[in-house]
Amino acid sequence: MNYKAPRGTHDIFGLNVIRMNFLEQKAKEVFMRYGFVEIRTPMFEEAALFTRSLGQATDIVEKQMYIFEDRKKRKLALRPEGTASLTRAFIEHRMDISNPFGKFFYIGEMFRYERPQAGRYRQFHQIGAESFGNSAPAADAEIIILAQDLLVSMGVKEIKTHINSLGCKKCRFFFREALVEYFNSVQGLCLDCIKRLDKNPLRLLDCKIDFYKFNKVPRISSYLCNDCKDNFTLIQELLKSAGCDYVVDEKLVRGLDYYTRTVFEIKTNTTDSQDTLAAGGRYDNLVEEIGGQSTPAVGFALGSERVMLAVQDNVFFDSLKQYEKIFVAIADQELFNEAFSFAIRIIRKGLKGNKNISVFGPINNKSLTNQLKFADKIQVYKTIIFAKTEFKNGKVLIKNMKNNTQIETLLIDL
Ligand SMILES: [Zn+2]
Ligand SMILES: [Zn+2]
Repeated sequence: MNYKAPRGTHDIFGLNVIRMNFLEQKAKEVFMRYGFVEIRTPMFEEAALFTRSLGQATDIVEKQMYIFEDRKKRKLALRPEGTASLTRAFIEHRMDISNPFGKFFYIGEMFRYERPQAGRYRQFHQIGAESFGNSAPAADAEIIILAQDLLVSMGVKEIKTHINSLGCKKCRFFFREALVEYFNSVQGLCLDCIKRLDKNPLRLLDCKIDFYKFNKVPRISSYLCNDCKDNFTLIQELLKSAGCDYVVDEKLVRGLDYYTRTVFEIKTNTTDSQDTLAAGGRYDNLVEEIGGQSTPAVGFALGSERVMLAVQDNVFFDSLKQYEKIFVAIADQELFNEAFSFAIRIIRKGLKGNKNISVFGPINNKSLTNQLKFADKIQVYKTIIFAKTEFKNGKVLIKNMKNNTQIETLLIDL
């Protein structure tokens, strides 16, 4: 076969499915406890939704979006992140009016065209949450603590939370001017930086090429208005009183336009890459900017593939609900129908009795030896063999695959 999964995508199977399910299960449990409900949005949206909400001068919009036209020439984009879609849904279903304090979580695939590397794919998975309608510092603190609890419950060790405040529109204006003035004094900026200087000078702060030149860059903390300063202090007090560890990191600016005030990132020391596992912040203007009632909001998302790299495998194995594997084999082909209906009967019995068994076989036109080989390969616990002589007396053979012993049992006893 000449087909391969497209570059940057991957099939998830074997251990990775166990890992992925574990993370998603944990997420559902933790979100439920914090009063968040699930929402599922489409994998593609009008491209303009993302351009508008993430901002023109961002890496995602400039370089990473999968944009395409459908047959009616509508310009669509595969979702590169969850917040814009969720906010669109929140407005479309008039929840800004009917349910202004909605707390939602999502789990699903996201798409970004970037260079694939360990833990980074073009189709990847995010788990995230958005809390609407609450402008109080408690909402920011809750999201940060929730994100931490989630990573810890997923088995991530040594997490480190970086927080910062980017201020409101008012203070951002002065900070922006100071930044532009400063960057204009820096010699030899890269092309991206020059291009972004007018549109989004904040983005220069995380330039991977020029960062070492920015020693004397103005700090947002010197430009925060009193309201923003108080707000940031209150959030930190709440975090401290909840026993939540964090560091204030003035270099932290999230790359997206919609953030206001609080931004945060959670990393772990256990992986070499020091990659950010989860990130988020407040976005008080986004709902209004894309057409809803003015509604404050705060949220975060984590990258499942990155979290999987940071968690020890024993955590996943310990989580596995054990299913006892049973194989139904036939020594004589003419007993196939009887064996088949027996297999279905014990599956249904397991379903009703809530017993964790998983049933394999029978397989047509294979010798008993080959059937047993297969049973061995998939590590079944016992094999039930239908053979003519025993079946005449209403019996089957039960072969214990671990110690290789065999007994006869009445079929009606099973
Ligand atoms: Zn402010
Ligand atoms: Zn640069």
